[in-house]
Amino acid sequence: MDVTTARERLEDMLAELDRSIGVLQGDPVAVREHSAADAGSDLTDADRAQAMLAVATTQRRAVIEAIKRLEEGAYGRCVDCAKPVPEGRLEARPEAARCVQCQGKQERRR
Ligand SMILES: [Zn+2]
Repeated sequence: MDVTTARERLEDMLAELDRSIGVLQGDPVAVREHSAADAGSDLTDADRAQAMLAVATTQRRAVIEAIKRLEEGAYGRCVDCAKPVPEGRLEARPEAARCVQCQGKQERRR
């Protein structure tokens, strides 16, 4: 994937994530459900919105990091082992910072 395409896709993702985060943060249903949650139900819309917000925030950070790597000319290389990240992986996840092996290690470490 060339740099121009990667940048376009990352910027689209960032705009989309910003929109989702804005909606999730300002969701009146989520806010209303949150007060109902105190009355005793377990998984409310507010909890789901919180979980989605956490995922979106993490992904947004990854996208911003990827744009930074694009600007530094380091895009497409694994941040851990510096080997090229396979094209197919970048196609599926343009924000991917690591090759499959290093990502696997990273996830096991958690
Ligand atoms: Zn690696």
